[in-house]
Amino acid sequence: MRKSIFLLAVLVLVTTPALAQVKSVAQYIEQVKALANRVDVKAANDYIEHNHESILREWLSITEINAPSGQEQQRAKYVEGLLRKYHLDDIHYDSTGNLIAVRKGAGGGPVIVFDAHLDTVFQPGLQIKAIIRDGKVYAPGIGDDTRNIEALLATIRALNDAKIKTKGDLVFVFTVQEETTMNGARAFVHENKGKIDQYIALDGGYEGFTYAGIGINWYRHHFIGPGGHTRSQTPPYSASLPLARAIDRIYQLKVPTRPSSNLNIGMLGGSEVVNAKASDAWFTVDLRSTSNEVIADLERQIQIILNEEAARVGMKVKTDIIGASPAALIPGHRESYLVRISEAVHRVMGFDPPIGNAGSNNSSAALREGISSISTGAGPCDGAHSLAENCEIEPLYKGAGVE
Ligand SMILES: [Zn+2]
Repeated sequence: MRKSIFLLAVLVLVTTPALAQVKSVAQYIEQVKALANRVDVKAANDYIEHNHESILREWLSITEINAPSGQEQQRAKYVEGLLRKYHLDDIHYDSTGNLIAVRKGAGGGPVIVFDAHLDTVFQPGLQIKAIIRDGKVYAPGIGDDTRNIEALLATIRALNDAKIKTKGDLVFVFTVQEETTMNGARAFVHENKGKIDQYIALDGGYEGFTYAGIGINWYRHHFIGPGGHTRSQTPPYSASLPLARAIDRIYQLKVPTRPSSNLNIGMLGGSEVVNAKASDAWFTVDLRSTSNEVIADLERQIQIILNEEAARVGMKVKTDIIGASPAALIPGHRESYLVRISEAVHRVMGFDPPIGNAGSNNSSAALREGISSISTGAGPCDGAHSLAENCEIEPLYKGAGVE
């Protein structure tokens, strides 16, 4: 039997009351297995099984419509055209440009949102042509996130074909601007807060899933000094000196691996010419952690280093915050209904799923609004955000079907 993970999760989710006592993973595994054997669930899996070719063609067609962040309209229109054929209860765009489709339930079940993002990281005007070779398909954007758009479309068709009526509403959201600001998902969860029970972002991943988002802070630190000609009297030095000393010391800070944390200094700059001392020497810091306390602590230590190194040469420090998104955490979420049931679904499908807390996608937007959320994906892919991006074809059906 082909297990289609997506569908199973849908069914499990919608047949269990949201507020019921959370059971053990082992208990959910039994429940998922029983569901997988239901005649209508098998029929839905059969639909995926019998439609490999059309699912593949549709996946490629959507991929070939490039959709840079903020310019998703053409691709959205194409997806909308498909959704219009599925007898859904509501199809509309919200004010941010997200395409939303609702498949109403019979009533009495939780509202589940499934999100896949429309946008790509590729520049406007890029001509995309998918190439199939050795069981893989090559095209920019094929995996991130078009495979998951197609997984949602195929899942809706499979549910319809098998005449499966869920209890709760299923809301399919094709989001915009995930790759840049997550503005699409942010606006959607903000507007619909209180109306969503669970939020499943399909983006990346395949074997496992994430249940929390990593915090990401970006800074640009400046040392401001007098500057001057190379031959002007020293000290004072070029502002590049405290910069170099500070970078060296920052890289000696202890960055914990548990909770998962990272620190990177990726950009720097100084004088515009060779024969001048820098009056403004700057560098960036990309600070990440699944713990907001770790971020705050490293931020404090970095500030001390900057102040000390500036004082040593009689200069000033200025810090610009380029971006700040806190870690997306819900206390106890690892042991929540959604996370345990997701683990059970993955296990029934034959995975030993890695379950992570360092996601960085639309799931974080939902978690920050206090909505139970995971992120996972429908197929194994490689080379995301590059022109060499590719996906294995066959497991898509497994992914499309069941998760
Ligand atoms: Zn993505």
